[in-house]
Amino acid sequence: MYLGIDLGGTKIEAAVLDKQGRGLFRERLSTPQGNYEATLDAINVLVTWAESQFGHFDCLGIGTPGAISAKTGLMKNCNSTCLNNQPLWADLQDRLKKVVLIANDADCFTLSEAMDGAARGYNHVFGVILGTGVGGGLVIKQQLIQGINRIAGEWGHNPMPVNVVDQFAPRPCYCGRVNCIETFLSGPGLGRTHAELNHIHHALPDAKLIATQAMAGDDRALRTLKLYSRQLAAALANVINILDPDIIVLGGGISNINLVYTHIQRDLPEFVFSDQVLTKIVAPEYGDSSGVRGAAWLGRG
Ligand SMILES: [Zn+2]
Repeated sequence: MYLGIDLGGTKIEAAVLDKQGRGLFRERLSTPQGNYEATLDAINVLVTWAESQFGHFDCLGIGTPGAISAKTGLMKNCNSTCLNNQPLWADLQDRLKKVVLIANDADCFTLSEAMDGAARGYNHVFGVILGTGVGGGLVIKQQLIQGINRIAGEWGHNPMPVNVVDQFAPRPCYCGRVNCIETFLSGPGLGRTHAELNHIHHALPDAKLIATQAMAGDDRALRTLKLYSRQLAAALANVINILDPDIIVLGGGISNINLVYTHIQRDLPEFVFSDQVLTKIVAPEYGDSSGVRGAAWLGRG
């Protein structure tokens, strides 16, 4: 059995999987806002609940919004900012007296889908999160590749290919760069594109609403999603040209928009350096559950 925790900005979720990936246990608590010590306590409570039912676990896998800095051993890049610069890994090992394995939430998503989800049976899997932010992960032969800087798969802060964004004003990113993929392909990025194309100034349109409008036949929403898919195709072509994965699994809120899949398969050949594009672009099987499932799978080694 494997024990995993998904440490999110609003909830902390625990799951126990058996060796076949079947869920045996699932519990969640609200994330204590802005309080690192209380966050450690909440993780402890969830682990205690799981162990009261299943006995002692030697190992805990944990998915977090950011990553451990290879330089300092402290957390970095977390949107739950109270985690940043904290020795989460060391503190959890001390408190829980077990091996703690930490990976980024996009990595956990990809591992879950590669092990027994939408990409099961494929050797070379790239997973993409298209949500509030844009992240990614790489799993080869069911092994998560984290990289020497622990940023493998982090394509969201590469620049967008110029030819699909040149009609827009430059978009500064929180990371300090301009026109990062995240500024166009995240949910808010999609909203901003829709607003700029249609001169909407009062509020940022919601990605879900744009999808609903497109399904209802709204021309403006359809045009935005078509352009979004083309931008996604151009950005993913860079990944395909380098890694050439067998399959790319989309996750995050935008992965629920069916139109994107149809358009992207049509647009990819324009951008990929190949006479044919066999790469499959698919929806996730586990969706929001993939974070905690992938965290549990980390313990498989
Ligand atoms: Zn950026």
